[in-house]
Parts: sequence; structure tokens; C-alpha cells
Amino acid sequence: MTASLKPILAPRSIALAGVSSRPDSLSIKLLDNLLAAGFTGKIYPVNPRAGSIRELPCHPSVTAIGAPVDLAVLMVPRDLVIPTVEECLAAGVGGVVVITAGFREGGEEGAGLERQLVSRLRAGGVRMVGPNCMGVINTAPDVRLDATFSPTPALPGPVAFASHSGALGVAVLEAAAEAGLGFSQFVSVGNSADVNVNDVLEYWEHDERTRAVMLYLESLDEPRRFLKVASRLSARMPVIALKAGRTAAGQRAASSHTGALAAADTAVDALLAQAGVLRVTTLKEMFDVALAAQSCPAPRGRRVAVVTNAGGPAIVAADALATHGLELAPLTAATQAEIRSFLPAEAAVRDPVDMLPSARPEDYRRALGSVLADEGVDAVVAIAVTPPQGSALEVAEAIASQARECAKPVVAVFMTAAHFYPQAHRVPGMPPVYRYPEWGVRSLAALVRHSERRHEREGEVPVVASPTLQGAVARARWGYLPQAEAFAVLEEIGLPVAPWRFAPDLEAAVQAAEELGFPLVLKGEGKALVHKSEMGAVQVNLSSPAAVRQAALGMADRLAAAGLQLDGFIVQRLVPGGREVILGVNRDPAVGPLLMVGLGGIAVEVWKDVVFRPAPVTTGEAREMIEALRGAPLLGEFRGRPAGDVASLAAAAARLGALAAAVPELAEGDINPLFVLDQGRGCVAVDVRLRLAP
Ligand code: ADP
Ligand code: MG
Repeated sequence: MTASLKPILAPRSIALAGVSSRPDSLSIKLLDNLLAAGFTGKIYPVNPRAGSIRELPCHPSVTAIGAPVDLAVLMVPRDLVIPTVEECLAAGVGGVVVITAGFREGGEEGAGLERQLVSRLRAGGVRMVGPNCMGVINTAPDVRLDATFSPTPALPGPVAFASHSGALGVAVLEAAAEAGLGFSQFVSVGNSADVNVNDVLEYWEHDERTRAVMLYLESLDEPRRFLKVASRLSARMPVIALKAGRTAAGQRAASSHTGALAAADTAVDALLAQAGVLRVTTLKEMFDVALAAQSCPAPRGRRVAVVTNAGGPAIVAADALATHGLELAPLTAATQAEIRSFLPAEAAVRDPVDMLPSARPEDYRRALGSVLADEGVDAVVAIAVTPPQGSALEVAEAIASQARECAKPVVAVFMTAAHFYPQAHRVPGMPPVYRYPEWGVRSLAALVRHSERRHEREGEVPVVASPTLQGAVARARWGYLPQAEAFAVLEEIGLPVAPWRFAPDLEAAVQAAEELGFPLVLKGEGKALVHKSEMGAVQVNLSSPAAVRQAALGMADRLAAAGLQLDGFIVQRLVPGGREVILGVNRDPAVGPLLMVGLGGIAVEVWKDVVFRPAPVTTGEAREMIEALRGAPLLGEFRGRPAGDVASLAAAAARLGALAAAVPELAEGDINPLFVLDQGRGCVAVDVRLRLAP
């Protein structure tokens, strides 16, 4: 799989099919880029009507080249693409990039041609990037490939970039050159008819020069494969993704809580989170984070020292640190004394270190040296507004001199004249430069998030099986399972349920009550009883057989009056207290089963405090989901109440996720509520709905 992309991304020879001799054509721009980048292999222009282009002799066809060709770049008119591909196959070409457009993106006819194109290439065992793409770049010194129309050459660097949009990709390359962002490789995947982003990510896993990955995505091809590949890659380097557009979420049955809480973008978010991908929401943020990833070592913690020559921006930075869950580092007395020794008495030497506007480049150098040496500092934000003494560039040099010696990340914030920025990134060892403190802090925070991610999957995916559920599937019993069966399913997969009995009628309910013991809850069973309490079909806190009898009579009357069918009762032990949590599963048409954990109770749809991940998850991942809830502290020790049994909650969530993954017909399910008891006492479900669909 991976080796098959080598002819495309590291070719020794290139045929340019359809390169025009017109000096203003796009295709000649691509040839010019190849030449300008200093491609280290051979270039064969193919054009039956031209003798030579840019002093390179032209060949009438790919087959006429008569020498081995690794990569063929096709810029021929659409209807010549397939015949040219036939030539490529006959000539034994290693791989192709099809720039030509007018395929799937142009309607049904184009889509048909694209299918033909792919099946020809697959039959020939040759991989293709495109069609409808902007080409590929590899800045490796032994390759020096720029087969794009990019108006500006890509700076060499550690960032690999794949883009669904070619035009946007090229625009990003242009802006990147200005910001000092350097690329190892760039792939415009176009229509991804053959090679898609996952293939490219797999290739980058083995690329020594790539230390960060940037993705512009408009869709997720093969989401489950993306999850695997991106997880492996993100364990080794930051993977930054901008996912634009919303998924076609399909028709979601929103009758469950989980369905209602899953927004259109939920599945993508869940998938990216699970893969450890840093999701950004704007191009600007994608850039900013990539800049930090390009030059910063991985932060070891969240404690940040701010060094500044102006108070205001430092306060903004401190606020941004708090917003992103980072902290101002408590500088040691020794560090503070050291800084004090060379600054005026009015300067602040606690974090933020405010050196005042009089700060000289030399002060930056010394202050940075001190804070970077402090054991309690994990990262530094160096801020400078236009200094009255010395130039911003001298300050930048001072900052760079310390940052490049150090294994801790430094980000620089310069609030100064526009001409400074393009110069700044040419300073050797310059850390990433941002115009505003929030931007710098946000980028640093992304690196912290990445390095805090647990790289090993902690815990295991539980192995579960439910004969009851399998039986219902086998008998094609689509729709909601009766409560008794749904409770049985939970028990079979090892998820504790409050003791319960099904009673077909009133007498049986009283009998069941006596067997179970009090206090009890009585619930109605019936197809139409979806939200039972709203329909008067739940009676809690019944403490005698007489109370059960009365409640059952009352319930039967109420439901009859409302014209709702009652098929019997569930009698269940009352669970006293506990924190109400909701667990859910539903299914995304592209991503497949999703697991949801949230703070439950009747207000779940109001607070929407829920976290989704693709199922199955390990118990460790279920714990991460729980920790990611805004209301997570409510599950810990809280106002004198002992902590909840989070470990058993994680186990229960993982079991439900495993069930959803094992039984594709489980379309959606809610456990609401699951009571989380005090630590050591486990958790217990009291209500569950499971829906099967073919
Ligand atoms: P529905 O969600 O269909 O209205 P539930 O079975 O969830 O019905 O019951 C409604 C509420 O009653 C629950 O959210 C919970 O607060 C309470 N409840 C239900 N069963 C029990 C039980 N066994 N122990 C304690 N409280 C319960
Ligand atoms: Mg409920």
C-alpha cells in the first residue's frame, strides 16, 4: 500500500502528458515549477505537436519516451485521460497524477468516466492521485519535486499537508511561505478516486522528514480506516485537521435522547477526538497550530511563564492560558531573584514577568534564560510590543538565542509593525511568531493537548454477547424491545440493573413486589409508552403491597383514559440516591456506531453535557469521555459527598459500546438514568430503551 505511492511522491523520472507550449498555460507553469524546484530526476514533456518546451525535447506519446517513467502527470483534455492512462500502463509507468478536471465533480457523465479510469488503473496495479487535483510536492533534498501550479514555491520543512481542495491548498502554500511554515510534502488529493487521505497518511508514517501533519478535509473517506491510521500517526506527531462542511448525517431517528443530542457534526468530532487529531475550526488556527508544531518541542506540562514588556498583552495572555486550561507557572524564589537583579525595581518578577517598556533585547535574553531554567516552567510565551529601545528584530534574535538552546517550547508574540513579520521567521531558530497573545497561547495549548494524550489505548474493549438481542435480531423483531427484554440484554452484557420483575397483570405485580421487597417503583409496559413518566406510567417510592396495588390500578385507569395500551408492569427496586448519568448508542451512516456518555436526569437535553466517541472504546477511553464532560466534577467528591464510582461507570459505558459494535442491528439505545453510586458500590441502570433496525 505504502510502497505503491513512492513513484508518485518520490519519482526518479516524470512524464508530463499534455504540457502545452503556450507560455501562459497552466501546464507550462507546472513544468516551470518542476524546473525551478530543481527536480533531481528526469523530465519528459509529452506533446505530439511541439518539438521542445523549455529546451526539453518533447515526446509524441508516453510510450514513445523509451525510458523508465516513475510518475506521469496528466494535464490532457478530459476525453484523452483514459487513452493516455492506457499508454501509461503500456509504458509501465509507476504512478499517475491526474490534474484534469470534469469527472465526478462535474456530474453523472464525469462520474462514469472516473469509475472507468479507476478500474483501468486498478487492473493495471497503478495508483493515481486525482483526478481534479492540483498536484504533489516533495521537498526532500534528494527529490525536490514540485508538480503543482503553486505561484510560490513551498519552503522545505517538517509539515506534511494533504488537502481536499486544490485551490485552497495552493493558497495555503502561498500564505505559508510568508509565515515561514515549511513543508515536507503536499498532496492535493482532488476527487480521491484512488489514493485518498488515508493512503497518504500511511505513507507519511514512514517519512522521516515529516514531524507534523496538516489536513484540510471536506469529507472523511473510509472513516474507520482513518481512525486507525490517524491514531497511529497522532501518537507520534501532531495531526491538525480542519474539517469543513457538515456531514450528510442521514435521516436520524431522533426519538431517543442520544439521537436528539447527536448533531450533524458529532460523528466527525467523535472520530477526530478518538484518533487524537487536533481539530481546528478556522484556516488561521490550522496555520497557527502548524507553526507551533513545526518548531516547538513537545511541552511536558501546562505551566507557562509569560515574559513581556507590556502589561496589557500579558493579562490577555494570562486569560487565554486560563481559557485553554493552562496555568501561569509559579516561579521559584531563586528565579525571581535572578530576574530582579537586572531589572528596574518597578518591574514585576512573578509570572507574568513584566520587564516594562524599557526592556532591552539583552533583558529578554536573560529573563528567558532564567524562566526556561526554572524546573516549574514547562513553556514560555514571550511578548513584545514595539520596543522604544532597540528594534523588534533584535528582541526576536534575543528570544531565538534562548529558544533554540532549550528543550521547552517558546512561542513569541510581537505586536508591532507589519514589515517585522516576514523578517522574523528568517531569524535562525526563531520560535513561532504570532501577532496576538490569544493566538500564541491557543497554539501552545494545542501542543499541550497533543502531548497529554495517552498514546497507548488504556484498558481493553470488553467482550460482550447478548443471546436475547441476537434472538430478537434473528427473528427480525425490528423496533423497540419491551423493557423486560432490554433489561435482560443489559444483564447479559454485565451491566447491573436494579432488581426487577415483569408482571403481566395487577395480581402478578403485587406478587412480584412481595418477592422483591420494598421500597419499589412501578412502571407501565406498552408499545406507546415511550417517555413513561410523562405519560403517568412511573410511580416511585411504593413501600407496601397495598401501595403497589393502588398505584397499578391508578396507572391502568390513567392510561386507559388516555387511550394508551398497557401490556403489563415492570416492578423494580427503588435505587436510593446516586448521580444520574445517561449512556447511549446510535449509528452514523458513515462512521457507524457511536457511544455517548452524559450527565443524565430529566435535564439532559437542556444541558447537552454529553461526549461522543466511535464505538467500541476501551475502559480507559470511556474514562476519558467521562473526564471530558463539563459536569465531570459532579461525579467526583463534591460538597462533602463521596466520589462516585467512575470506574464502574467507565466499565458500563465500554460494555454498551462493545454491544453496539457487535450488533449492527442495534440502531439506537439509551440507558437513562444509570445511577452512579458511591465509590466501591458500582452503578445501576433503572431504565433502558433499545431499538433494532435491519
Ligand atoms: P422514563 O424515562 O420513560 O420516563 P424511567 O424509568 O427513566 O422512565 O423513570 C423516570 C424517572 O424515575 C427516572 O429518571 C428516575 O429518576 C426515576 N426512577 C425510575 N426508576 C427508578 C428506580 N428503580 N429507582 C429510583 N428512581 C427511579
Ligand atoms: Mg428514563
